[in-house]
Amino acid sequence: MLECGTHVLAGLLELEDGRALGRACSCGGTFQDKKRQSKTVRSLVGNTRIMHTHQQCTSCGTWRSPEDLVLDIVNTGFSPGLRRAMADTGGELCFEKAAGFLDKLGGVRVGAKDVERVAEAIGKDILARQEENILTVLDGQPPTSTQTPDTLYIAADGTGVPMRRKETQGRAGKHADGIARTREAKLGALFTQVTTDEKGNPVRQAHSTTYVGKIESVDTFGPRLLAEAVRRGFEQARRVGVLGDGAVWIWNLASEYFPTAIQIVDYCHSHEHLSGIGKLVFPYDEKARKTWQKPFSDLLWDGDIPALTMALREVPLEGKSKEFLTTTIEYFNTNRERMRYRFFREQGLFIGSGVVEAGCRSLIGERLKCSGMHWSVPGADAIIALRCCLESNGFENYWESRRPTTKAA
Ligand SMILES: [Zn+2]
Repeated sequence: MLECGTHVLAGLLELEDGRALGRACSCGGTFQDKKRQSKTVRSLVGNTRIMHTHQQCTSCGTWRSPEDLVLDIVNTGFSPGLRRAMADTGGELCFEKAAGFLDKLGGVRVGAKDVERVAEAIGKDILARQEENILTVLDGQPPTSTQTPDTLYIAADGTGVPMRRKETQGRAGKHADGIARTREAKLGALFTQVTTDEKGNPVRQAHSTTYVGKIESVDTFGPRLLAEAVRRGFEQARRVGVLGDGAVWIWNLASEYFPTAIQIVDYCHSHEHLSGIGKLVFPYDEKARKTWQKPFSDLLWDGDIPALTMALREVPLEGKSKEFLTTTIEYFNTNRERMRYRFFREQGLFIGSGVVEAGCRSLIGERLKCSGMHWSVPGADAIIALRCCLESNGFENYWESRRPTTKAA
């Protein structure tokens, strides 16, 4: 069957001679045929050879092959279909395993290094398209979103990715020797909500979550998140919520790029800070701690931060513990507007950033933090972008957008 497929494919490929492209160069010059050569194309149904033409522009000297362009095989001997399968499996599994699966399930023999190169090239292309989109947003010229969400949530978080030594040189880390082993990848998760359930709890719209992520500073991550938010209907949404833990960068980013959004600190994080104090008061007796903590928890759940901080000031702690208490009270005080949990609940808003934390674990952790893995920044960025695209159900659209002229196997 595969052999038959190969013959059919070879025939189809012959039809794609690139004449549809014309001969005009973007510089105004004309492309002229220079030589014709055969090229091996590896596809999901086997290998085949095609003839392709090398053309050069008479005025600017640029080279191109029209057949490669229409078949989407510029600078590669793998067909788009095979590259897509390699990216799909390489995005999900480590490159060794991905190559093994392609062989086992599809009878396709490719090396782990091939899978790595192809998956990373596609991830880089996804990033490059994202950058273009970011520029249109920063220029104030983005295409108007077709989405009109009722409530749009933008949740952000960071997670460490294990790096090769050269990527962390000169960076301070938490390790005993003071050298960093990881770099922080930032992840944004965007999702929408239209309704609440019978108990008044917000319901996340099915399949509405999309992700963007990269190892970068807030200065560039902010615009990345903004561009995705604009695409998701940020400007049309009735209301927008930004969800995060207490990390200061998230709130700086929110104030700069989403000034109209409601800022919400993840309730679980707030509660953890409270438990931290409980553990200092009752280090061993968990039952007593819970009983003691209950009235404080109730105040937090109600979002009554002035009452909570006033009550916490009376907690009898000394020395280091007292310092921790003071810091925690400051944390509650600083974030009091973002902890109006009763009000948020009455509005039917989410008060947890679990979606983005789960994303950090499944999208980044499960693929990039496996034992023995050490990434380069560009390599990690490419795979993160690829996985974000796959998880956001954007991969189909990506392939549609990159091959307007043909759909070869
Ligand atoms: Zn030219």
